[in-house]
Formats: sequence, structure tokens, C-alpha cells
Amino acid sequence: MSRHGIHVLVDAPEVGRNMRDHLTSLICLEVAGGTLKDATKIGNVINYLTRRKGMLTSDIAEAYGFVRTDDALELPDVEMIFAPVAYVQEGLNGIPAHGVSLGPILLQPESRGSISLASPNPLDKVIVDAGYLSDPNGADRATMLRALRMASDIFATPSMTGVTNGHHLSPLGAERLPADELLSVLLEQNSHTLYHPTSTARMGTDAASVVDPQLRVRGVDRLRIADASVMPEIIRGHTHAPTVVIGERAAQLLRS
Ligand SMILES: Cc1cc2nc3c(=O)[nH]c(=O)nc-3n(C[C@H](O)[C@H](O)[C@H](O)COP(=O)(O)OP(=O)(O)OC[C@H]3O[C@@H](n4cnc5c(N)ncnc54)[C@H](O)[C@@H]3O)c2cc1C
Repeated sequence: MSRHGIHVLVDAPEVGRNMRDHLTSLICLEVAGGTLKDATKIGNVINYLTRRKGMLTSDIAEAYGFVRTDDALELPDVEMIFAPVAYVQEGLNGIPAHGVSLGPILLQPESRGSISLASPNPLDKVIVDAGYLSDPNGADRATMLRALRMASDIFATPSMTGVTNGHHLSPLGAERLPADELLSVLLEQNSHTLYHPTSTARMGTDAASVVDPQLRVRGVDRLRIADASVMPEIIRGHTHAPTVVIGERAAQLLRS
């Protein structure tokens, strides 16, 4: 019998464990104008509807690059992403002002989260704890701080100082913080998911893994999982395309 009084038929403790996600933390600086804050103005809507051109054709994250925050690393540990809009609090409270956003995405987090039941009621929402920056040796935090330093250095180049006025839009006025506090405050207050949760039903060849390499759930007959949750580890890129590949592979396996 489990914590929620549900009779256990298959004991698979890794279900819901090992959650990985890409954390991002953006620096948002004010600019005079010409950003996607204007994308839904009537002129832009008409431009898009009649000519399929203009701001509404933007994919928002218009520039990016994969970088190493430490020269000793063999592979990039961060993706740097740029958007011509002030992406403050994921846009949930609107766009506060004209601004641009630049910051890192942590590609291979050591931190792990979990998804667990809140109650025995299947209609209740589950508890999602992404566990960001919770790795015991602090490696994820250290990487993000190095990467935020890189983003800050990019904003300090003449090309960028010619565009922004240096005023932080999140948290407002952060430019007045002491330099050694600024990056920690940005990390604590501007971090959020990049919407890439994976790995809560890890595929593996070991007995503890949730699904086997044919996507079959261990201990349960005639049940397969085909989504981002089976990734044994989060990938260094974005998760949509590999999830489609997992779906295509599942279709092959079912047909064979
Ligand atoms: C805002 C946002 C932006 C993103 N941008 C990108 C991007 O630019 N590039 C990229 O590569 N990835 C992006 N991603 C990530 C990508 O969308 C996901 O990695 C991918 O969709 C994961 O696929 P999935 O099949 O695991 O889950 P999902 O796509 O979430 O599919 C789950 C499906 O299950 C259905 N479902 C849920 N509960 C039930 C139920 N009880 N019964 C029946 N059906 C149910 C849902 O309706 C949904 O159709 C983004 C994600 C978000 C949220």
C-alpha cells in the first residue's frame, strides 16, 4: 500500500524520478523601440495577414549559439539565446517596455527533479518539482553564473551599448546593484523553465529503468511509453525533434 492508499501492482520507484529540464535565465535590458512589443499592433497584424511579413513572422528567439563556459570542456555546456523583446516572467504579465533579452540555457543539468502524486484522486494535479540548481556540489549554479557573466559581457560590447540604455527591466533597476551581487540576483529572480522536461520514465537496459529499449514498461504487459519522458538524459538541444523521432520509432516497433 502506498502513501496515498493505492494498492501497488508493480513497484517501479523510478517512475516520476530523474526529471531533467533546461533552465534559462535572461538578462532583459531596455531599448528605445522597434521590438516585438509592437508585434500585435494593427499595422503588423495587417502586414502579416496580407503579405505574411513583419514582426509576427518572428520565432522570438531569433539568435542563439552554443558555447563552453570553461575552455577545458570538450562540448558546450550552455546555449546562449537572444530575443528582440523583454521576455520578463515568461510574458505572463505582458511586456513591460521595449527591451531585448539575452541569457544562457543550461544544457546538461546535474540537478534532478520529480513528478509525484498529490493525492489518490486522478483528477488532481500532480506535484512537479524540477529541482533546479539543487545538485549538491553546486555545479549547475556555478555554470549559470559563468554563463550570465558571458551574457553580461556581450551586453557590454559597443554593438550592444549602442542599442540598450543599460536599464534592467527584471528586476527593475538591477543595474544599481553591486556588480558582485547582480548575477546572483539575476539567477535567483529571472530563471525559469525553457519548457523541455524529460526523463521521468527513463529508458535503459538496467532493471531499474522504467522502459526497456523497445519502449515497453517493465513489469506491465502491452504498455509502451513514447514521449520525452523516456529520454535517459536530457539532450543538449531542444526536445521537440527527438520526441518526434521517439514517436516514429514507437510506430515502427508496434508494426514489427
Ligand atoms: C511553450 C513551449 C515552447 C516550446 N518550444 C520548443 C521549441 O521551440 N523547440 C523544441 O524543440 N521544443 C520546444 N518545446 C518543447 C516541446 O514542445 C516538447 O519537448 C515536446 O512537445 C514533448 O513532447 P511529448 O510528446 O513528450 O509531450 P506533449 O507534446 O506535451 O504531449 C502530451 C500529450 O498528451 C496529452 N495528454 C495529457 N494528459 C492527457 C490525458 N490524461 N489523457 C489523454 N491525453 C493527455 C496532451 O494533450 C498532449 O497532446 C516547447 C514547449 C513549450 C511548452
